[in-house]
Amino acid sequence: MIAQARICPYCSTSFLSSSFRPGQRVCSSPACQRRRQTDHHRRKYRSDPEYREICRDSDRKWRSQNPSYQQQYRERNPDYVAGNRVAQQRRDRKRRMRHLVKNNLAFDVKASSADVWLAGPELEDLVKNNLAISQVMIFQTLAAPGAHEG
Ligand SMILES: [Zn+2]
Repeated sequence: MIAQARICPYCSTSFLSSSFRPGQRVCSSPACQRRRQTDHHRRKYRSDPEYREICRDSDRKWRSQNPSYQQQYRERNPDYVAGNRVAQQRRDRKRRMRHLVKNNLAFDVKASSADVWLAGPELEDLVKNNLAISQVMIFQTLAAPGAHEG
């Protein structure tokens, strides 16, 4: 019988690898075996597009066979719903701002000699990602152009 003493990476317990599974790295406690499977699934899901597609497919199938699950989950977890709503609103706002920046910069900045300032909670990202200029100001509500005096 060939057995090798090993240390489980999850629970740090030493164990003897079974002669039937000489490559065993994780102890045979159910909790550690579950973690091993979860980690394996996560790694494979991230690295293997075909595996990912199979998983998504089986998720879709499961959801269509359990149509009330999602509804019930939402009812039991109002925080989850609220969090999603906030995240969606943030994405919408960013999209609007991106659109605004794109469209304004296209015609405005080049024509204007004035400094332009960006203002707003989500604009730091936009500046980093989209603009080489640091002084841009775009209002979400554009004022009607008034008559110039003088
Ligand atoms: Zn273990």
